Amino acid sequence: MKALVYTAPNEVTYRDEPSPSPAHGEVLIRVERVGICGSDMHAYHGRDPRRVPPLILGHEIVGDIVEGPGRGRRVTVNPLITCGACDYCREGRDNLCANRTMIGMTRAGGFAEWVTTAASSVIDVPPTMPARAAALTEPAATALHAIGLARRSLVRPLADACVLVLGGGAIGLLAALLLQSEGVRSIALGETNPLRRAAAGGACGATVFDPAEGNGVADASVDLVIDAVGARATRAAALAAVKPGGVVMHVGLADWASEIDMRKLTLAEVTLIGTYTYTTADLVATVAALERGAFGDLAWVEERPLAEGANAFRDLHEGRCAAAKVLLQP
Ligand SMILES: [Zn+2]
Ligand SMILES: [Zn+2]
Repeated sequence: MKALVYTAPNEVTYRDEPSPSPAHGEVLIRVERVGICGSDMHAYHGRDPRRVPPLILGHEIVGDIVEGPGRGRRVTVNPLITCGACDYCREGRDNLCANRTMIGMTRAGGFAEWVTTAASSVIDVPPTMPARAAALTEPAATALHAIGLARRSLVRPLADACVLVLGGGAIGLLAALLLQSEGVRSIALGETNPLRRAAAGGACGATVFDPAEGNGVADASVDLVIDAVGARATRAAALAAVKPGGVVMHVGLADWASEIDMRKLTLAEVTLIGTYTYTTADLVATVAALERGAFGDLAWVEERPLAEGANAFRDLHEGRCAAAKVLLQP
């Protein structure tokens, strides 16, 4: 089969690879679309020790089961393959499964014509759902999960909250769109890339600003910050922007460590929450949300052939891509 293989830092190669065959309890999926994730870019930059070349990346997958249980079903994939038996799995917090593995990381991913995964890690999508919507399930579920956790910690109803989103990539933009569909009126979105800033402004009703030209919001003025970047600068901006008693959701993970303002966190009783991926229930809820149009028309999503994947990675790397999400089509 044809696949786009991460062969070395800053290099992905479109080439022939052995076709996978499903083991017992697995399914073989013919890939319809697969999204390029920020974490794929991280791997491409050689900055993810868990993703070692040569490796087929890609975990934002929609396709049809062509072999194994459920043959003929159109599905999206939960990239996390979980054990179903540990305490976390039994509590429905399967994103924290102690024994989890992941597509496009510990095993071959979806930048290929076919991919195999555990039969228990697929979620049905309606046959009529546009591929560009179905392929957004995974990043959209990350936003939905983060907003769900935030809602539990906010004192006022989400719709009445004043929200700052940092980062206009897929997670930040999808979060802004979902917040809008939840009735949130006050959303500011910071993004440094001017192409993405323009695209985000067209796609959602948020007030879009350039963080290089100021904070976009007054200090201590927002109830909720969603940091979809997770860098030293955004963590500092999030802590500065949040109101006393407010909530900061840490979703992105561009830098792994930095000092944060523990004095403000403590004296202003700020809730700082780390959030990782989604549960199976979040993915199911996200398919339903995409189906009812909660994320808008998705006209900002770009689709390219898998054969041109290397150019897509390069364009994303060089910041030449306005689209917050590029999908590849094998
Ligand atoms: Zn992803
Ligand atoms: Zn488990």
